[in-house]
Amino acid sequence: ETLALPEEFAGELALADGSHVEFWANVASPAEAQEARRLGARGIGLLRTEFLYLDRWQSPNEEEQMQHVQKILAPMSGRRCVVRLLDAGADKPLPFLRLRREENPALGLRGIRALLACPDFLQIHIRAILRAGHGQDIALMAPMVSQVQEIIELRRVLASCHSALLEQQIDHAWPVALGIMAEVPAMLLEPGSFRGLVDFVSVGTNDLTQYVFAADRGDERLQNLGGAGSSAVLGLIQGLLQGLDVPVSVCGEAAGNPQLALGLVEHGIRRLSMSPRSFAGVWQALRVA
Ligand code: PEP
Ligand code: MG
Repeated sequence: ETLALPEEFAGELALADGSHVEFWANVASPAEAQEARRLGARGIGLLRTEFLYLDRWQSPNEEEQMQHVQKILAPMSGRRCVVRLLDAGADKPLPFLRLRREENPALGLRGIRALLACPDFLQIHIRAILRAGHGQDIALMAPMVSQVQEIIELRRVLASCHSALLEQQIDHAWPVALGIMAEVPAMLLEPGSFRGLVDFVSVGTNDLTQYVFAADRGDERLQNLGGAGSSAVLGLIQGLLQGLDVPVSVCGEAAGNPQLALGLVEHGIRRLSMSPRSFAGVWQALRVA
């Protein structure tokens, strides 16, 4: 059996209960964004920004970052694109941030922690994304959030970037929704504390599984430990859905795995973000379920 999407596929699938599962795309390049458009993605659920900068010792400036994001947004014009703030650290070290070497990088200064520790870079980064999003439907998403204070601080930086751009009369997207990745167990254990502070949440099952089972996501010897389909992880996701009244998606690899995607939908997830190459397989699995 070859896996194919139906001709009329428009990024969603109706379930027997009348609800819809939405298919969003994970992308990191203009080519992937084009593929997402061609295959009917509802939007971009995860635009990863770090890959361009992986071995750079010089910080990319505002203009370069803006153009990079603009090129990825262009093919998906008219649809919502969730741009994730730079997720530096651990498996994605960024030399130009000059963070010091760590014994346990996965538990170190990464994601939002690294960004808040590098305020000059964060400001340029947010300005670049807001400018790239002018005339487009963008949202921002923060990686590795573990506590409310981080999002309060980020909102402060975001507001000050907006004021500065306004004063300089530079076109930019505003207002923008701000969401967070749910990938640190602490966040999922107390989702209610984020009420009113986040506009949406996206579960990063890659890191969440790693942290729930204390099992390095890159170590294949540990991959039989638990996993995203375990009751431990699914239980946390269920608690998240119950504890927060905002859209919740899943953008980790599990969303693109037919079997795991099915489990997520059975636990109440209605928005999946994955590589567009996985659409057909997941669509088939959900359709026959
Ligand atoms: C995740 O952790 O599941 C995720 C989507 O982000 P990344 O794989 O980039 O850490
Ligand atoms: Mg992650």
